[in-house]
Amino acid sequence: MSGVWEQVVGQSAVVAELQAAVADPTAMTHAWLFTGPPGSGRSVAARAFAAALQCPDGGDGTCHACRTVLAGTHADVQTVVPEGLSIGVAEVRELVRIAGRAPSQGRWQVVLVEDADRMTEQASNTVLKMLEEPPARTVFLLCAPSLHPEDVPVTIRSRCRVVGLRTPPVDAVADVLVRRDGVDPALAAWSAAAAGGHVGRARHLARDETARLARKAVLDVPLSLVSLAACLNAADDLVGAAKEESDRASAELDGAETEAVKQSLGVGARGPGVAAASRGAGQLKELEKRQKSRATRLGRDSLDRALVDLAALYRDALVFATSGTQGVTLAHPDRRADAEELARRIGPEGALRRIDAVLDCRRALEQNVKPQIAVEALTVALRLPA
Ligand SMILES: [Zn+2]
Repeated sequence: MSGVWEQVVGQSAVVAELQAAVADPTAMTHAWLFTGPPGSGRSVAARAFAAALQCPDGGDGTCHACRTVLAGTHADVQTVVPEGLSIGVAEVRELVRIAGRAPSQGRWQVVLVEDADRMTEQASNTVLKMLEEPPARTVFLLCAPSLHPEDVPVTIRSRCRVVGLRTPPVDAVADVLVRRDGVDPALAAWSAAAAGGHVGRARHLARDETARLARKAVLDVPLSLVSLAACLNAADDLVGAAKEESDRASAELDGAETEAVKQSLGVGARGPGVAAASRGAGQLKELEKRQKSRATRLGRDSLDRALVDLAALYRDALVFATSGTQGVTLAHPDRRADAEELARRIGPEGALRRIDAVLDCRRALEQNVKPQIAVEALTVALRLPA
């Protein structure tokens, strides 16, 4: 793989399909749906495809078109990333307006929707109208996790060419960490295995010691649950860690945005005048609202990642308790001893029951149950037998 395709890790079949579409514009499809498990690189693949479509050379990765698409600044590639919990109709309307324009410099007008599963019903309907009568030079690239295909309405799916990504092999992920990010090979191999082929997560683990410690704290939970007090403590720790992580991430994003808005309004400079000041207050309020919604989502994502890690450890225990590990890839190979110990203490049924409990907790959180309440119920259900 070379050029823009280098970033699409472990997906040779998908890359071949996209390259063929770029090479033959007459066979071009107006709507594509990139699906795949979390971390498989849906939006990375969609962005590489967008670059290759705009590049005079099919995605060499070095020309102006490639570089601006990858940097997110190309005039004919519009991206929607939901910052809050959903993509609303206002965001989508704006896109549809842009999608109706002819490309200003590129060959295509590309509209890329990350997390298309987060579109509200009204937003989906607006997109659907566009897909029913696509403008000649407009290409829609929608991305959505494959775990819940029903989250993207079938009316939209049926109008898209579906590109299915798979979880990239661990060695392909390790390889890209070494080549692209300069990570030490041993750490790269460990991170790729610990992240189960989730590229972004593997990079995060490889580059950030805080992330490695947070993962360790989560995976230490199951064997610590020996009493009710221990369960309640573990719940506090899980919820607290997720909040800390999202606070840190939000603070980084919020500070720069608030500063930018203040600057553009001239707040803090000499008297902006009463009208400008009140308009500014409104804009800042609007920004605060969006930032709050994003913080909620970051917190949920962080807690959800911890729950996925927990469920995977119980799955490893289940493997030990039933078939044994012959030919099975453990989700947490570095916690093999823990999985074995758990298997011994809770047995296959205990492991299954605990996996269900984790799933119940994820569902409860999705339905806006307070994290503290949902996670306490979980850790109590995960308690080890006496
Ligand atoms: Zn190029």
